[in-house]
Amino acid sequence: MRKRLPLALAAAGSLLAAGLITTTPAVAEPTMNPGGPCLQENQTVMRSSVPDYRAMERQLLNIEKNSKGRVKVASAGKSGEGRELYYATLGTGDTVIWLQARIHGNELHSTESVLQILQELGSSGSPSVKQILSELTIVAIPMYNPDGAEANIRQSTTPNRQDLNRDWERFTQPESEAFWHLFVEKAPSIALDLHHMGQAPRVAGTDDLNQFQIGAHSVDPSRMSADQWKLARQLSEVSIDAISGYGQTHVAKYPYIDITGGVISRMILGGTAPDGFSPSMQKNVDAAIFYEVRSVGQKSNGYLEQLFTRPVMAVLKAAADGSLYSSDWSDYDRLSYATNAPCGA
Ligand SMILES: [Zn+2]
Repeated sequence: MRKRLPLALAAAGSLLAAGLITTTPAVAEPTMNPGGPCLQENQTVMRSSVPDYRAMERQLLNIEKNSKGRVKVASAGKSGEGRELYYATLGTGDTVIWLQARIHGNELHSTESVLQILQELGSSGSPSVKQILSELTIVAIPMYNPDGAEANIRQSTTPNRQDLNRDWERFTQPESEAFWHLFVEKAPSIALDLHHMGQAPRVAGTDDLNQFQIGAHSVDPSRMSADQWKLARQLSEVSIDAISGYGQTHVAKYPYIDITGGVISRMILGGTAPDGFSPSMQKNVDAAIFYEVRSVGQKSNGYLEQLFTRPVMAVLKAAADGSLYSSDWSDYDRLSYATNAPCGA
């Protein structure tokens, strides 16, 4: 079920969305140049340790085959180089959750994590998985940018080399257009976007390695409705809680960002569409956030993948049992930022 808000709050939200009243301006936040992954000097990345496009395709179809009808795999279209833009759907609930991995081709581990999540949801008989599948419909994209993944670059390749996470205003790339149509068709209320971090080596004020950055907003919070900003922080809290106490994981919050052409930014703001289509076809999400996991590397693959898998599963569980919508978000403001320096610092 989509949770209904008290009328007064909903009204305030639409006034905010219409720009008739203003929210408190964002507190001064540090800025940072986006762009993972964060590699140490001389670090070799063994790409053979993570699934490439063909391995992803094989695993995805295997998960579908073994799921006894739970997982359905389809393609949203073709990449610039002609690869399928695979996605999986599962669950029968009214609340639709969009889970997106690997929009940046060289940020490796989110693909494997999404496959693990699909494997779990496609085969487990646990009560919490049953609840997730009855309350939610999940749309999962294990490799948004297969051409960039194969080339091991951030951007797409064809017809232009573009950061696909800046292309939801102009829609110059086939991946953007295909996934926009899927987004309109599925009309998700929550979106999660998985990344690796760029330069953000330590939690500010400590010597602790920053392993996980939570991105509660990809546009200035003053451009969201009050309800979107609240739910984004609730999603963030549920995500962070899921990894606190897991190994030596240290968490920071993502610094100031306001990228209007980002995919989840446009899911929040609406207002754009590919040529020939109306922005009014698009329903804005209730909230969208992103995760950034540290580094990539074959030695700690399992750990890095868990840093995606655990918070995603926690969000699904909390959305399914309803606890998400009443969870406390007051700790979010108290989270530290990371230091802004090269990865090895
Ligand atoms: Zn990224």
